[in-house]
Amino acid sequence: MSRIWNFSAGPAVLPEEVLREAAAEMLDYRGCGMSVMEMSHRSKMFQEIIDQAEADLRELMGIPDNYKVLFLQGGASQQFAAIPMNLMKHRVADYIVTGQWAKKAWQEARLYGTANKVASSEDKTFSYIPDCSDLPISPEADYVYICENNTIYGTKFHTLPDTKGKPLVADVSSCFLSEPVDVSRYGVIYGGVQKNIGPAGVVISIIREDLITEDVLEGTPTMLRFKTHADNGSMYNTPPCYGIYICGKVFQWIRRLGGLEEMRARNERKAKLLYDYLDQSRLFHGTVVPQDRSLMNVPFVTGDAALDAQFVREASDAGFANLKGHRSVGGMRASIYNAMPYEGVEALVGFLERFEHAHR
Ligand SMILES: *Cc1c(COP(=O)(O)O)cnc(C)c1O
Repeated sequence: MSRIWNFSAGPAVLPEEVLREAAAEMLDYRGCGMSVMEMSHRSKMFQEIIDQAEADLRELMGIPDNYKVLFLQGGASQQFAAIPMNLMKHRVADYIVTGQWAKKAWQEARLYGTANKVASSEDKTFSYIPDCSDLPISPEADYVYICENNTIYGTKFHTLPDTKGKPLVADVSSCFLSEPVDVSRYGVIYGGVQKNIGPAGVVISIIREDLITEDVLEGTPTMLRFKTHADNGSMYNTPPCYGIYICGKVFQWIRRLGGLEEMRARNERKAKLLYDYLDQSRLFHGTVVPQDRSLMNVPFVTGDAALDAQFVREASDAGFANLKGHRSVGGMRASIYNAMPYEGVEALVGFLERFEHAHR
């Protein structure tokens, strides 16, 4: 068996320790004679798994008691509709468009009401985060929406927008648990777990209780109502049991390492190694303005599409997988999520140096 360095943007690398634990428990979960995949979601065994996962997530993020934690399905993309359906009481919301995922969320919200684009960085291929200190927030807006880490473009909000008192809704799919967070500053924090936490199929949404009401848009399906899942402990129907179990193991792994402060320290150290190399390279360069760089997704180019393609090919042959940039940006992208060890980034920088030496 050999594992390669996997820089995929998602589904993405998971901690080897977690995979080994899951493998060891595959046939017989803690003496119950079956795997977690085979057990009833109504069993005591599974209830303990989901309760522990929620408790560990609450501890890690310091989630206040007036927030619910929901384990949902449908991907982050389904929340693009669920959010306006549940929150657009006045049929108005303000969106900050900093990339494709924010744009898709904004376009979806327009199906349900007036979704204002109050800021955008599309003029420069989403390579920066616009100034959000004094936005034209609509007086009647039900919420302000951001995509906090832009997976495709490699930017991150290092300062949250001033929402002028409106609830902030944030898609954190690609920066979930990457650093400490003040949950009380948000109305909703949500994300698909397949980037930085677990396997595809689970969406975690952390929602302030006063935003979970019966007063949703007419025609909102039962399964898309926050209240349905909040009232039933995420078990209105069969939840994605195995995915939740793996997320729970990742939460425990992060707790063992020292929590989100430690994750931030590790992520900053990894990102610095790669950005410092790119900043002095005469062949490669990053595509994002330095002050808005993501710790998680690092896009870079040579400026020559053919050379980029050759790099991706040679890197893949050398055991560095999934470095091809998103089709909308081209070039390369290294996603260096929590589970990517420092040694993986070190090895990548070594390979970049060798490639640069050979091609400059
Ligand atoms: C990947 C991604 C999505 C889409 O997630 P799905 O689970 O595939 O719907 C949405 N937002 C962000 C920030 C992402 O990185």
